[in-house]
Amino acid sequence: MSAVEKVVGELKQLEELLVQCSRCGTCQSVCPLYKKDRQESSVARGKMYLLDALVEGQIKKADEIYKYLDYCVLCGRCKNNCPSGVKTDEIFLRARGILRQVKKLPAWQKLALKVAMGQPKLLAAMSPLFHIGLRAGASKVDDGVFKPMGLFRPLIGAMADRHVIDMPAEPFTKKYGGFNQAQNEKMRVIFYPGCAVTLIYTGWGEAIVETLLHYGVSVYVPEVNQCCGIPSATMGEMGLYKKQIGVNFDYFDSIKDAEYILTCCPTCEYGLGATAERESGRQRGKQMMDIIVFMAEVLKGDYPKDIPLEGRTTLHIPCHYNHAKDSVLKEFIKEHFDTEYADLKNDGCCGFGGTFSLKNYAHTKEISALKAKEVEERGYKNLFTACPGCAMNLTDATLTAETAVQASHPVVEMYRRRIKKNP
Ligand code: SF4
Ligand code: SF4
Repeated sequence: MSAVEKVVGELKQLEELLVQCSRCGTCQSVCPLYKKDRQESSVARGKMYLLDALVEGQIKKADEIYKYLDYCVLCGRCKNNCPSGVKTDEIFLRARGILRQVKKLPAWQKLALKVAMGQPKLLAAMSPLFHIGLRAGASKVDDGVFKPMGLFRPLIGAMADRHVIDMPAEPFTKKYGGFNQAQNEKMRVIFYPGCAVTLIYTGWGEAIVETLLHYGVSVYVPEVNQCCGIPSATMGEMGLYKKQIGVNFDYFDSIKDAEYILTCCPTCEYGLGATAERESGRQRGKQMMDIIVFMAEVLKGDYPKDIPLEGRTTLHIPCHYNHAKDSVLKEFIKEHFDTEYADLKNDGCCGFGGTFSLKNYAHTKEISALKAKEVEERGYKNLFTACPGCAMNLTDATLTAETAVQASHPVVEMYRRRIKKNP
């Protein structure tokens, strides 16, 4: 049996998911990539046609199909808006994993993934180097934001235009890894920081843990952050993804006296949520939820109100946020901040998509520029989001548009302005 025949055989296992697509085309109206380039291969329906054709044996070049599946931010908007309930995210992730057998990941990318997944201690230990390297190879353009020097353009191409958020000299886990005991303890939770908070937005981690401690919640933080594995899954390396699910679930299981796993990264929540349970066949055993949902619906603390924010405020809701809780997120901002709040009219994806942005920065930039344009035109001075990846990408877009508005997290602003001692 040839490799292509084997792949086609495995793809046939997806048939029962693929047949649910009625070809109605509703997904065209929500897909950020289709809206941008009007190509059928960009949208879920087109990708489904290609996979169907592959299963039917019409297309022999399975390895070429990979690039169309790969051109997707995995925002899940097609799934969330599909009238037939097609599980597009499951189809795309599983199909990428199957097609990886014939469309191998370049060796250097596989090595980078293996280091990122398998050597988290090494990554954390390299924080001081990242910190110094950023100062040596980039110029500071805003508070905590750098831009690579032009001399790197031949090496990194269009990425030389990207604004890079500062990488502190110490990872978040160095100070907070382990058990953080609250005075007058009410309950215990696990805070899963994810890679972005561990290495980049360490201030978000500090704000969240200190806020929880302030309200009597003791917090377990992994001594070493293990990636949720989603970068591997999106690159079709499902074996690496399953390994990451295993190490994270083992850690969660090892903490017996915490009921909740909290995170401020909806993509980590997605990667270690139902998708992880489906792919690994394991149950997580503890409820995982966003920090704001926990504060609003479980902890119900007497949080500060009327925290003044200068100028108008808006919010970008991350694609992987638990959308049943979108209103909780909005209400949290309106209830605790003294500001003129309005929803963004453009409620679509910010265009980041994790590894998508690394490979397709020009496309990411086109999508995020639409958000930045609205921020500028409607005169917002404060831009909230509930995901460090979105914050990075939106900050890049707003600074590119010269609006000088950096994206931030509501709990971070609450902590810095009201809860932190001697702010
Ligand atoms: S994926 Fe859903 S929304 Fe898109 S064409 Fe198929 S049935 Fe319609
Ligand atoms: S996941 Fe997002 S980018 Fe991918 S096809 Fe669906 S709507 Fe388009």
